[in-house]
Amino acid sequence: MIRVVILGCGFGGVEVASELRKRSDDIEITMVDRRTKFQYQAAHPEILSGAVTPDEISADLGSFARQMDSEFINTEVTGVDFGARTVKTRDSSITYDYLVLAVGGEQAFFGIPGAESHSYCINTLEGAIMTKQALDKASGKVVIAGAGLTGVEVAGEVAVSKPHLQVYLVEMMPRVLPAFPTTKIAAIVSTKLRAMGVKILTGRALKEVRDDELIIDGQYSLPYDILIWTVGLRPARVLEQLRAPKTKGWLKVDPYLRIEGMKEVFAVGDNAYFEHNGLRSGQNVEEAEWQGKTAAMNIIRTMNNAKLRLYHPKNTVQNPRAIISLGGGTAVIYYRGIVTSFCAYKLKKHIEHRYMKRFRVSG
Ligand SMILES: Cc1cc2nc3c(=O)[nH]c(=O)nc-3n(C[C@H](O)[C@H](O)[C@H](O)COP(=O)(O)OP(=O)(O)OC[C@H]3O[C@@H](n4cnc5c(N)ncnc54)[C@H](O)[C@@H]3O)c2cc1C
Repeated sequence: MIRVVILGCGFGGVEVASELRKRSDDIEITMVDRRTKFQYQAAHPEILSGAVTPDEISADLGSFARQMDSEFINTEVTGVDFGARTVKTRDSSITYDYLVLAVGGEQAFFGIPGAESHSYCINTLEGAIMTKQALDKASGKVVIAGAGLTGVEVAGEVAVSKPHLQVYLVEMMPRVLPAFPTTKIAAIVSTKLRAMGVKILTGRALKEVRDDELIIDGQYSLPYDILIWTVGLRPARVLEQLRAPKTKGWLKVDPYLRIEGMKEVFAVGDNAYFEHNGLRSGQNVEEAEWQGKTAAMNIIRTMNNAKLRLYHPKNTVQNPRAIISLGGGTAVIYYRGIVTSFCAYKLKKHIEHRYMKRFRVSG
């Protein structure tokens, strides 16, 4: 039987397994992850306020794999020998006919002195839980570094649930949500956050993190009690070990989501660099899922010697879309230049619940 091995069981990897199984019973699927649980990262900011619990937004990967009639191996991937079609792991090696890389990214600190050792991060569920525990005991000043999607969500959750804390949001770019193409969303979100008491400092670059103060732009000092770091994503470390075409460390894929120059190795989600006809996939849940589906279809098409499907990105760097929660059951939707808060939080929760349901069925 043909064996497909999926490395990384986040949004991308889980989608590949689901779609492959939906389309064929004659494939052996092996899912590999160093975690035992799937983590719904988009809801991590809400862990901080207690709006969601860790159990509600995580799920056992072993049961999910069983439900998919697949194998789950809980181990760390350390490399891939593409010539020998073999994945190297901490414990052993796994051979494959087709391989999908979906190992995502990790928090970046850009070499800023003290940033990694002095800050809390919510990229992982464990990190989000630790951050909540620290906030529950804190008094004084909480500084959030980075006013991208995660930064503004964190600011809203903390401001609403911990009104005794002073919340600062520091951003190097001239406005919040700099990755969004219009200033309208930035103005609306800034107004909402300010109304909650968040102090927004834009156009200020963090240069150094000391024990109890942040050095901003090399001259200005901001004392802090808790620092939450939300800026930047770097490729998962294992990608450094791979001999494959990359752009800034991310795996370069062709228009069918195969790693450039490889016929049987695909990459999906955050770890893939997809750019075609002037559109680049954003690093978000929607892209990870759609890429996962398309890669699964293309694996089956390759097996059947059928024409491969071109990938069309939906949530791109050029045209991003998102639902941004801002604490206290509020959110805003940004879609094709339009900003609305109508039913935004309800929709966000509906998407989350519908997504997590796929794991609950397995029990
Ligand atoms: C705090 C936060 C909030 C976010 N909010 C939103 C949002 O509101 N909307 C949105 O669209 N996107 C959001 N995102 C982005 C979104 O979560 C990612 O784009 C998405 O998770 C990408 O899916 P993925 O499958 O590529 O990677 P991930 O979901 O990161 O999965 C990667 C998997 O690979 C595993 N892995 C990594 N290295 C190894 C290894 N060496 N060996 C074995 N396993 C390994 C990891 O354990 C993990 O399970 C948010 C991200 C964060 C961190």
